[in-house]
Amino acid sequence: TKDDVKRFFMKNAFVILTVAAVIFGIILGFSLRPYKMTYREVTFLAFPGELLMRMLQMLVLPLLVSSLITGMAALDSRASGKMGMKAVIYYTTTTVIAVFIGIVMVLIIHPGKGSKDEFTKQQAVEKVSPADAFLDLIRNMFPPNLVEACTKQFKTQYVKRVVYVQMTVNDTVFTLNGSQQFSREEMIPAPGSVNGVNALGLVVFSMCFGLIIGSMREQGKPLKDFFDCLNEAIMRLVAIIMWYAPIGILFLIAGKIVEMDDISSMGGQLGMYTVTVICGLLIHGVFVLPLLYFLITRKNPVVFIAGLLQALVTALGTSSSSATLPITFKCLEENNNVDKRVTRFVLPVGATINMDGTALYEALAAIFIAQVNNLDLNFGQILTISITATAASIGAAGIPQAGLVTMVIVLTSVGLPTDDITLIIAVDWFLDRLRTMTNVLGDSIGAGIVEHLSRHELQKKDPEVGNSVVEE
Ligand code: ASP
Repeated sequence: TKDDVKRFFMKNAFVILTVAAVIFGIILGFSLRPYKMTYREVTFLAFPGELLMRMLQMLVLPLLVSSLITGMAALDSRASGKMGMKAVIYYTTTTVIAVFIGIVMVLIIHPGKGSKDEFTKQQAVEKVSPADAFLDLIRNMFPPNLVEACTKQFKTQYVKRVVYVQMTVNDTVFTLNGSQQFSREEMIPAPGSVNGVNALGLVVFSMCFGLIIGSMREQGKPLKDFFDCLNEAIMRLVAIIMWYAPIGILFLIAGKIVEMDDISSMGGQLGMYTVTVICGLLIHGVFVLPLLYFLITRKNPVVFIAGLLQALVTALGTSSSSATLPITFKCLEENNNVDKRVTRFVLPVGATINMDGTALYEALAAIFIAQVNNLDLNFGQILTISITATAASIGAAGIPQAGLVTMVIVLTSVGLPTDDITLIIAVDWFLDRLRTMTNVLGDSIGAGIVEHLSRHELQKKDPEVGNSVVEE
């Protein structure tokens, strides 16, 4: 009946609107392409999308901090230790699987056949030693200034060099098919200049702080209540932004399609490379992760993923897993009913360090670059690539194209030419969106799995968030 139809639409309004947004975004983008809009006009077109990005980013910081603090404070150290172990095992396993898939795909498909002459030669990029990068990763876990950690991405030697990388790259990026009509300034995020934060440092601080507050019991209650309340208030803001999200996503996608390079020029190796990455991400996101979810929880992964749809589309639109974080929270808690004690703990950490899509892509891209250069990698080098790709995915921030920046580490570790990163820049904006979706999916499925594995610990306790977990 009419009422049923109405109820159906109301219930699934978000999903319907979001999917419609993607479709309309694509249609709008392609129908505007023939007009060869200027960079300025594209900025106008994408403006509603830019606003969405900004709104989401605005909420990430307080959300990350408040959810981690309350999440940790709600558990005693033993329970959070156990849950943490499970999360870490999940992150590691899935990242290793992702890297493995990436390597197998690129070795089988071998997209880098032919010669490098197919590519336009680009400018040099400075090398970064893996050891320096690793030290920076650890350094960033302990921001000397918390306020600054909220406003600046990274402030270390390694990233200063990367900023330099970005600047040299910017000048040469858009020569790929000779079309220079758009400035490519946003191609690679400059970690120091984007509206990012040193998320890793804040995650470490908030986790420790939350644990301490939890262990203070009565004494810690005022602080716990404060962050609980902050978290709740932020989530209510998220609920409002969710209504705006489809509009933002529509224009983000349309804007990107309007300014992308001509697809027909993307034949040959770059096209094959794109296909290889897509295949790898599909295998991981459509088969491996859902299968893992099913095997462990015995629940239907399709239902679980359907609940995540808006988060996945937001990831596609924003190409940032940290900007998507607020929506991921909403989807998991409201559609999939995942326990808040799990999401508050597992999601912020996951969005910061667990990036399956990025890991898969970094390993795959590094080997592709070797293939393009006609270099045969031995087993040891491939192993090195898998290890550094994992580290690089942990170090990558959840912001657009961060993976491209941390790839310098992977290339340097096996002596591949770092300037060849520029070979794959032309398609990275697109692959970035897909790997961000995979990243968000990985975090969410992780939350589902950790919840299932922790169900005994969670059951014994008062289900209301904020109550201390009783010692077993
Ligand atoms: N854009 C990705 C994310 O936010 C990171 C990457 O560049 O791989 O998850």
